[in-house]
Amino acid sequence: MKAWVLSKNGIENLSFLELETPKPGPEQVLLKVKAVGLNPIDSMVVDMIPVSSPKVPGAEFAGEVYEVGEKVKNFKKGDRVTVYNRYFDGTCKYCINGDQMLCDNGYILGVMSNGGMAEYAVVDAKNLFNLPDSVDFLVGASLPVAAITSYNAIMRANLKKGETIVVLGAGGNTGMFALQLSKEIGANVIAVSNKFWLKDFGADYIFDFDSVLDKVKDITKGAMADVVINSLGEKFWDIGYSLLGKKGRLVSFGTENGSTAKIDISQLYSKELSIIGSTGGSIEQFSELVKNSANLKVRVWKKFGLEELKEAFEANKDNKKQGRVMLSF
Ligand SMILES: [Zn+2]
Repeated sequence: MKAWVLSKNGIENLSFLELETPKPGPEQVLLKVKAVGLNPIDSMVVDMIPVSSPKVPGAEFAGEVYEVGEKVKNFKKGDRVTVYNRYFDGTCKYCINGDQMLCDNGYILGVMSNGGMAEYAVVDAKNLFNLPDSVDFLVGASLPVAAITSYNAIMRANLKKGETIVVLGAGGNTGMFALQLSKEIGANVIAVSNKFWLKDFGADYIFDFDSVLDKVKDITKGAMADVVINSLGEKFWDIGYSLLGKKGRLVSFGTENGSTAKIDISQLYSKELSIIGSTGGSIEQFSELVKNSANLKVRVWKKFGLEELKEAFEANKDNKKQGRVMLSF
């Protein structure tokens, strides 16, 4: 099979090689990869995360079952599936509590082990979920990172019908799903972005960073937001924090724009604010997300073939949030 292999850090050390197609173990499945989503984590794998041995990157992918291990009963060749991308042991206290993304011995596929930037990938059957018929592979390959991250963030914030949520950086990979999932709950959804197309993704309002504080004040008659999602980090921390009303919850899961923040403690207690971190999501959440994915959509800015991965990484650097960069083959 053809596969991208990273031998050490740096995109120049990413090679498109002919490898022996792997065999699935007894409880594994060999997947024919159909689509891959590019995310900041993949750039970190290529550029920064130490490479202990050569590996295939790609943390977010979906495909078709090609071959099943002898003990796998619930999948067959041709099944369309997406991948819960975390290895977890199932035995530590976090796994037992249903927080597989926090597993003491866990890791993300394509980060610490082989991922989906190849024609085929071997995945544990317990990590696979059938895609509903109407869900294409581009959405399927947006569930394991982009959508689940927003899903968990919204669950962690306990967003309720009728509440107001502000999504900072709403045009990004996670943002477009945060809007859709919040709308499904019945929240008032405010996108902070300059992308008009977010109206089609559940945004009731779209404001830019300069006007959002005044606009949210107006819309909520001074009550401000119940939930703010900040996937951007430090640069937008203060604005996100000031958008919170009483009992407001600020959820954070990204540091693209810096990772240090100050908070006004008097605001924290006098308004009973909560600052919440979230990372990925649990396998249970992923299962729910996939089951309910028929109404989800993804905006793709540029699609590349498997052999064009380097061009895709390049395009992703220039991505001005016009949609996702994905591989489709
Ligand atoms: Zn565990």
